[in-house]
Amino acid sequence: MLDNIRIVLIETSHSGNIGSAARAMKTMGLSELYLVSPKQGIDEQAIALSAGAGDVVKNAVVVERFEQAVGDCSLLIGTSARLRHLQNSLIEPCQCGEITMQAAKCGEKVAIIFGRERVGLTNDELLKCRYHLTIPANPDYSSLNLAMAVQLVCYELRMAFLSQTAQEMPVVAIENTVKNTALLATAQQLEYFFEHTERLYQSLGFIQNQGVMQKLRRLYQRAAVEQNELNILRGMLTAVEKHLYFHKE
Ligand code: SAH
Repeated sequence: MLDNIRIVLIETSHSGNIGSAARAMKTMGLSELYLVSPKQGIDEQAIALSAGAGDVVKNAVVVERFEQAVGDCSLLIGTSARLRHLQNSLIEPCQCGEITMQAAKCGEKVAIIFGRERVGLTNDELLKCRYHLTIPANPDYSSLNLAMAVQLVCYELRMAFLSQTAQEMPVVAIENTVKNTALLATAQQLEYFFEHTERLYQSLGFIQNQGVMQKLRRLYQRAAVEQNELNILRGMLTAVEKHLYFHKE
């Protein structure tokens, strides 16, 4: 289950934080680390601070863009200290543990995303996430060190993992859970759908500014669209396109 969870660090400035985050992960049983354009690559400092978790650092996947780190994941959770405006999707670490473990158990790939040391995640990045996690810290001083935030979140993942594995579930029940749960659309599939929607409705003159797409993105994130549902939505867009093309001929 823990193997289905990925920790993503965006544009980390200090390699030491990468090492500390890797250590935080490994102590809680997580190992999949993705780094998006780290400012300092993996160096001595990173290895030193990772202590015995050098394997997590060395196996980290380095990519250039956000999309490359989450494209194959179907549940994206963004973390930030400043999220009060996103009330519909706001969760705390304990809920994050439960939601993540539930999804991971059903075979969904989950990405938990951490921002830059100075400025956190951009609004655009947050908008791509289904849930937004805030550690309810001191409102007057709420920004934790990056690796400490990773530690706290991973701890809650472990707590949820332990409480799920404590009661031994009969094999049949687990199989049923997996079979009954349709797979959610991945971030990349959703991205294609949003691009397709925007292209079509811009050409029809309905979408004239970014506001509409942002609202639509929120709507579909909230709906937790399944892959078979997304196929229907894309089919509908294609049907409109075909109809337009036919009438142009
Ligand atoms: N000044 C930045 C702080 C970034 S701290 C800001 O206001 O966003 C670096 C990262 O640690 C954040 O992007 C987030 O991923 C995580 N983090 C720090 N404090 C947090 C908190 N209270 N809740 C959730 N994540 C937090």
